[in-house]
Amino acid sequence: MKKHLFSVLFICSLITSFADASSSLVISNNFKKQINATKLEKILILNDSKAIIRVIQNDVDLYKIDYKNENQSAQVSQIQKLIHELPKSPVNMKSILSGLEIENVIGLFLPFEQLQNTNSRDALFIREDAGVWTLIHEYMHFLFNEFHRKNNALDAPKLQNIIKDSTETYNEEFSKHTINNKFEDETRQNSYVDALISLCKHNLQFVLNFSIEEIVIEEQLQYKFQTDLKNNIGFLEADEHSSSKNYISKNLRSALNTTEYILRLIEEGRKILPSDSYGKIKTEIESYELKYKDILFELKKRKPAETKPAKPAEVFTT
Ligand SMILES: [Zn+2]
Repeated sequence: MKKHLFSVLFICSLITSFADASSSLVISNNFKKQINATKLEKILILNDSKAIIRVIQNDVDLYKIDYKNENQSAQVSQIQKLIHELPKSPVNMKSILSGLEIENVIGLFLPFEQLQNTNSRDALFIREDAGVWTLIHEYMHFLFNEFHRKNNALDAPKLQNIIKDSTETYNEEFSKHTINNKFEDETRQNSYVDALISLCKHNLQFVLNFSIEEIVIEEQLQYKFQTDLKNNIGFLEADEHSSSKNYISKNLRSALNTTEYILRLIEEGRKILPSDSYGKIKTEIESYELKYKDILFELKKRKPAETKPAKPAEVFTT
């Protein structure tokens, strides 16, 4: 009897562990980006547009971006009807998005720090012709941003400015060094070192919080789409699934460029700095190098299809 009970228990626990493994829709991202998995899971299992909007509105203000759909015969989905009912943005989008063309923005997350009003809530803007895929995509930016804020990460405009300034300084000092084959004086050398460290630090934040974040979000949505498909659920838009691959490729190329560029700069620094000066920054610079190498390893696993070598299949003769 006891033995029987034991085996029944064992089978039950096996079944529950399988069920647990298959029911979790949240995948771990290999870039160590922190996210509130409980909140994410809650959204991913809903499969109900109205409920999703309600849950999102608990965390952020949700606004619509007007869009004139040229294709009048296009079917309006349930989510699009719901977006149509959302309030319009109380802030002028064009003034916020000076660097972006509003016509091309289908969804946008903006932390309250970047909104030019007294509103203290983060906001999410979604175009009327968008779908659930885009809505969850933007909401995931919000979830990631909760941790960026906690870790005092710089916002996009500040980060871009610092990177621009440091790049200018770096290039100037590097080219002067190339001409004379040495640093003119200690001030010049220090300015080079500061720019190098600043580029390592800020590009790491940049690559992880922008292009890699896009990759992680899209991989998560693709995973949900595929899992749903197996369970005969067709909640996320199929056309979004096909364009998602291109979007990942684009961000992958950008992330690879940044990562390989910084690794090249670190290598250059090692070559041109006098050994005693390099010794002073060795620990810091090599900890950055390790982080970039980990990122590179992960990115290379996902190399964009276009960059794969188009070599003819090798023929082996025995
Ligand atoms: Zn995005």
